[in-house]
Amino acid sequence: MEQQWKQLLGGVSPDVAALLATLAEQHATEFSRKFYQTLLADPRASVFVTHEAVDTRLHASFQRWITSLLTRLSIEDVPALIADQQQIGIIHARLNIPIELVLRASRRMKEVVLEAILSHPGRYKARLEAAILAMGLTDVAMEIMSAQYADSHDSVTRTDEAYRNYAATMNMSLERECQRTALSDWSNRLLQDVMIGGSDIPLSRIGHSPFGLWIRHKAPAIFIGPRELETIRASMDTIDERHLLELEAAIAREDMPAVRRLTRLAIGEVEQVRHLLDTLFDHLVRMESGSDALTHLLNRRFLPTILGREIGLARSKGIVFSLLLLDIDHFKTINDQYGHETGDRTLQQIAQTLSRLTGSGDFLFRYGGEEFLIVCAECDAARAHIVAERIRREIENRPIELPDQTRIRVTLSVGLSTYDGHPDYHRLIQHADQALYHAKATGRNRTVDYATLPQASAQA
Ligand code: GH3
Ligand code: MG
Ligand code: MG
Repeated sequence: MEQQWKQLLGGVSPDVAALLATLAEQHATEFSRKFYQTLLADPRASVFVTHEAVDTRLHASFQRWITSLLTRLSIEDVPALIADQQQIGIIHARLNIPIELVLRASRRMKEVVLEAILSHPGRYKARLEAAILAMGLTDVAMEIMSAQYADSHDSVTRTDEAYRNYAATMNMSLERECQRTALSDWSNRLLQDVMIGGSDIPLSRIGHSPFGLWIRHKAPAIFIGPRELETIRASMDTIDERHLLELEAAIAREDMPAVRRLTRLAIGEVEQVRHLLDTLFDHLVRMESGSDALTHLLNRRFLPTILGREIGLARSKGIVFSLLLLDIDHFKTINDQYGHETGDRTLQQIAQTLSRLTGSGDFLFRYGGEEFLIVCAECDAARAHIVAERIRREIENRPIELPDQTRIRVTLSVGLSTYDGHPDYHRLIQHADQALYHAKATGRNRTVDYATLPQASAQA
């Protein structure tokens, strides 16, 4: 690629360079407008970019991009330029933007570039050379981006598979029992509500129950044959949107035969779900590896998969989720004082506490040595704050017990960030990290929400 780029730049005359510089200066806005106009004309684009984002950020960065493409014509700049294009490719892959959308927008933009060059005054030969060079530079930039995109995209897909493999080695019999119980809990509650509830009580929906959360968030990551999963989701919708609505109406008019009939229907549907759940677990293929060996939490390499999926869900359903980044305070002194083995035991116990205190749709990662990351599904900042504080207090109040009865007090600091509509999950992690930094700087053993930091309001 470097060779390709350098070849284009060989023997560019000062005339041509001057023409391209003028072009960038006078027409960059126009090029950017054409690019985003084309991109946004495709309905698929609305998932990745909004008109607002284009106005506030993207126009400016596109203009910087095209200007640097058309004006940095020295051979020495080529490696840096290539790195820039690769970076853009990585970001596109992370956002999962269909590559053909970008290529199409670039093609239409090139038409405008060409028109601008040809309508410029000046020697015909210089204009022709400038046109060929500008087209070549845009194309080579796109080639680099696409190659990088394909690479990064592949690796995300591979991680997806690895996650499934990992999921297959989780303690599946335990998971199965938990979810069977969660399902029974919900149907028992339904029976109770129907029997003793007054006519004004709305019946609780299975879709919002712990079981429903688990089905929506975790199950797709665990099971390979998602056909049963689809059927389960459809059954849950039928229960929530049909049976329970009719049931509430029947309760309201005190039509007992209808209440009995509809309750039976809903419970029958639950039985169907239970059966499908068993099938899913039975079909699960056991495969090797994936979790962190010490804590049995998720390995951080699954973060892109999980966050990508959560962002997709948030975008399509309009429900936010939050991240908690937790870091043990002064962990080094525990190692120093009691030895590494005790340090390890501490990490294990903390991991167990985290598992105990997080919900069924949440994901728990070992993020670094003594850092953990929790993806709180369907949690806004306020709820995530409650979860964080519950964990923080529990760790603070329950010392780690060693076999020789020694008790070690530990605390942790938490940074919190909440999905704000931005499609890049890196930003969310950065925000949680900044909040964590702030928690450390202001005394440790506390939770800080990124939204309350000065830089958050500066950005808003
Ligand atoms: P702070 O409150 O600023 O977070 O202080 P800290 O001491 O927790 O942070 P620092 O980053 O200075 O040290 C982290 C320590 O965690 C250093 C490293 O030896 C230890 N550590 C990381 N991974 C492991 C592990 O798997 N087992 C053990 N026992 N220690 C670990
Ligand atoms: Mg740390
Ligand atoms: Mg620490």
